[in-house]
Amino acid sequence: MAYPQAYVDLLERLNRRGCAICGLLHAAENQYIDSLLYEYSNDPDVQQKFRRGRGLCNHHSWLLTHHHGYALGVSILFEAVLDEVIDLLDSDSSASPVGGWFGSKGLARLPDKLETETPCLACASLCKSETQYVETFATYWNDPALQNAYQPSSGLCLPHFRDVLRRMTDANARARLIEVQREKWETLRSELNQFQIKSAFNYVGEPLSVAEADSWRRAVASMTGDEHALLSLPRPR
Ligand SMILES: [Zn+2]
Ligand SMILES: [Zn+2]
Repeated sequence: MAYPQAYVDLLERLNRRGCAICGLLHAAENQYIDSLLYEYSNDPDVQQKFRRGRGLCNHHSWLLTHHHGYALGVSILFEAVLDEVIDLLDSDSSASPVGGWFGSKGLARLPDKLETETPCLACASLCKSETQYVETFATYWNDPALQNAYQPSSGLCLPHFRDVLRRMTDANARARLIEVQREKWETLRSELNQFQIKSAFNYVGEPLSVAEADSWRRAVASMTGDEHALLSLPRPR
């Protein structure tokens, strides 16, 4: 049986720390931004989409600037946005002082005209990838290879756990996933507890283990998703 690429990606990612779906989204995000700058900054269609979206969302626009060596690509894409915004400002300014953008009605309309016309391209692409990974996880959960890879992993973060559960129709499969996930959160809770005990100023005894030492960060990731992984993505239902 041929497995979809999303399933192969999930199995591979479960060997690494953190929620596998969050990790795959980070990778997909970097790949998307990279190809946008490398392959598409001169593409008229992409430039048109940038005009309509007024760039990307704040997070993804800044991410473009963190990809070194692509300053020219960023300048081309944002020149298109700047052109669009100036065109909009100019589009009605020649009218009379009471009409046009400078009249009372015009001024009220202008902010709406300047509003983004389409959602962020990167967010839209990541949203699709996320749905695909969530659906793949739910569909293949009964596969022994997935359960074997999941058992020693960090588990899913709470947002992705909810998304996967919503897509599972088989009651036994749901129960099995809940059982494994619960064990992971139970372990994390005791590590947090040890972290608190051993962080007391008068504590003498065993030093913190590696897992206990970063349990507080892992608790944030486990309850809310990786840093920036779910930013501005509408949660799939
Ligand atoms: Zn996650
Ligand atoms: Zn975005």
